[in-house]
Amino acid sequence: MNEEKNFKGVLDLELNIGYNVNGEYTRSVSLLKSNGVAEEVFSKKTSDKPYTWIANCLTIAVKSIGSVDVGVEARQNYLKDNVVNIPKVIKDMPMADANSLLLEIHRRTWKNLVEKQEIMCKYCAKTAIADVDLDRIDLTDDDKNLIAGSPKFEFIICDLVDGCDLTPIIVKLKKENELGHLKDINFNRFIYRVPTLGDALRNEKYASDNINFWRRIASDCLVSIQEVDNGRTVNEFPEDFFAALGLDLYKQYLSTEDLGKVRYALREELPTMPFSYTDTCPCDLQKEIPFVMEASSFFSV
Ligand SMILES: [Zn+2]
Repeated sequence: MNEEKNFKGVLDLELNIGYNVNGEYTRSVSLLKSNGVAEEVFSKKTSDKPYTWIANCLTIAVKSIGSVDVGVEARQNYLKDNVVNIPKVIKDMPMADANSLLLEIHRRTWKNLVEKQEIMCKYCAKTAIADVDLDRIDLTDDDKNLIAGSPKFEFIICDLVDGCDLTPIIVKLKKENELGHLKDINFNRFIYRVPTLGDALRNEKYASDNINFWRRIASDCLVSIQEVDNGRTVNEFPEDFFAALGLDLYKQYLSTEDLGKVRYALREELPTMPFSYTDTCPCDLQKEIPFVMEASSFFSV
């Protein structure tokens, strides 16, 4: 099943999702070899600023994205003032690609084997200590199919099960003249732009509160609220009033099932490298279990 791969030292790669860099949709990334600056930045993990850490690692490790150079200058600046300045091209990267890229940096420029990880086995209920081989991590077949043919991922469509009626907000805004025709309508489709690392950075102080964090990301990334009937958009809530909706849209107007759909759309729908693969538990039962790479074990020295 698993082909033997060795990613160590292979510094050119393609992002799974890709994005617009200087007006051109690109997936091409080149990495720099690790050095003393990289070691310092990679190992400086701060639990209260997880996305700053990821952005710092990317800034120092990435040589270029598309036509934009990143890492050489960032390393020189770090030597001068010990600070990583995160450039726009890194902030604009899809959050899912940033996560995947962190794994790629680890296995290509750092270490492909993460030693002595705790592996939980649900069959023997024991914790085994085993080495995790990052070279064995791969996209799921579903995600591979999703990226076959290199599509552009710019929007995420989220079709709601229950939908939402925004009449109370129309009344509250006293905008019956402009929005009166949208009363008593069941809006059942939200469209989002792809969440970026910049979105995560902006909302980083809420990162430990998963639900709140993702509502804020959803709020920032929302580009359209529609009523769709038989695949046709029949009504649209004007974007000018999205700010007035704010987080109330998620706090007051959606069912828990639809809130789950929104989170799934934003977090899971785009192709991302899992931080795990399947292998045989070292116990006598010899069952296939997930070997999971803990993000907190990344770049340990
Ligand atoms: Zn076991």
